Amino acid sequence: MAGSPKDREADRDRPELDDDGAGIDRRTFLQQGGRAALGIGAFGVAYAARAASLPADAPTIQKYVPLGKTGLMISDIGFGSSGCPSADIVRHCYDRGMNYFDTAEGYGTKGWNDGGYVENFLGEALHDKRDKVVITTKYYAEAKDDRKLIMTKLEESLQRLRTDYVDVYLNHSVNDLDRLKNPEWFEFVELAKKQGKIRFSGMSGHGGQLQECAEYAIDHDMADVILCSHNFGSDPKFYERFMKKFDWVANQAGIRRLFKKAHDKGIGVIAMKTQMGAKLNDLSAYEFEGAALPEASLRWVLSDPNVDAAIISMTSTEVADSYIRASGKRGMRHSDLRVLEQYVVANSSDYCRPGCSGCASACPAGVPIADVLRQRMYAKRYGNQPLARTGYAALGQGASACLGCSGEPCANACEFGLEIAALTRETASMLRA
Ligand code: SF4
Ligand code: SF4
Repeated sequence: MAGSPKDREADRDRPELDDDGAGIDRRTFLQQGGRAALGIGAFGVAYAARAASLPADAPTIQKYVPLGKTGLMISDIGFGSSGCPSADIVRHCYDRGMNYFDTAEGYGTKGWNDGGYVENFLGEALHDKRDKVVITTKYYAEAKDDRKLIMTKLEESLQRLRTDYVDVYLNHSVNDLDRLKNPEWFEFVELAKKQGKIRFSGMSGHGGQLQECAEYAIDHDMADVILCSHNFGSDPKFYERFMKKFDWVANQAGIRRLFKKAHDKGIGVIAMKTQMGAKLNDLSAYEFEGAALPEASLRWVLSDPNVDAAIISMTSTEVADSYIRASGKRGMRHSDLRVLEQYVVANSSDYCRPGCSGCASACPAGVPIADVLRQRMYAKRYGNQPLARTGYAALGQGASACLGCSGEPCANACEFGLEIAALTRETASMLRA
């Protein structure tokens, strides 16, 4: 892989489907840092063969990009597995050229940490294609976790994934600096890398301290890869284009600067939660002159040259195809912007922006407002009640205090105009045990 940022930009735009790196053994594979180490050439050849047997109108991955300076080449649209219902969808995406698969120890078949383990689906579908795919998994390491426990969690993940290594291992949903700074995590990473069980490490985040944590990780060289929530609805540049209301969007204003900082250091940058909560809504309402919401949202995120790729939950083959159509498309058309505008205007009143912590100190009862509203999004927009219920239960008292509260302290606390009390009360009634 070329070294300078300019070279990498050039690489980024070149389809990577042409050469053959087959025949590499696992030891060499793990020891080498270049693109041949991934066997991306082998992947390209295999993909071309698979693509030939697909229906003519089947969307396929059009672009593979370097993931920071890891040497990994990954599809620009990656497989997000939260809510993944079967191994068949994993195979469907692989057959369409996807080679980046993201999962987590905590993703259950019904909800968060429900013991169902979506990792099993990836293991079932990918174990015999291991050298052709890049697999990321995550563990929610607490500040008090020791290296032994984290290693046990990794080994359990490897067993379910039916592999002896993962390419990227992330500390999951890091929302406070104490978790990020845990020295045991770094001892674990060093050992696991030495043992060949992980190749790269980093953090993911979508909570209120996302920017603070990601910036700390970047500045202190704690991550090879970061996975951050990012979408048009949290990006000032989007609103700049059609509104002059900066007050709507101040909270995520630094995220692009962070991405550039990470990219300049060679840290891989992957975006998630790219759809501003659009999962269950009738998406046909958001189409304009051939542009559709799933593709337009991904185009928006991928138009940032500092974002390597995006992952997105693949919950059905139809949904997967609608996302795969965005592969290779980084520019925004007028029609894409119109679709996004329509969606924002119709859906902003109840959408809590990932990464925002603007109201964190508004509640005297200590209700974790952003976390509560994320569970509401899982229930109402994603239609995933089990995920929402387990996530809500993990919040302890959740929003139960809201049921007996006037709502005055948090009135006007949301810079985006959300009526917090009404939304948290509704969430408490809907999700409490
Ligand atoms: S309604 Fe009351 S208890 Fe609930 S978040 Fe607002 S201030 Fe806190
Ligand atoms: S309710 Fe509003 S201020 Fe609070 S985290 Fe969500 S978007 Fe930010």
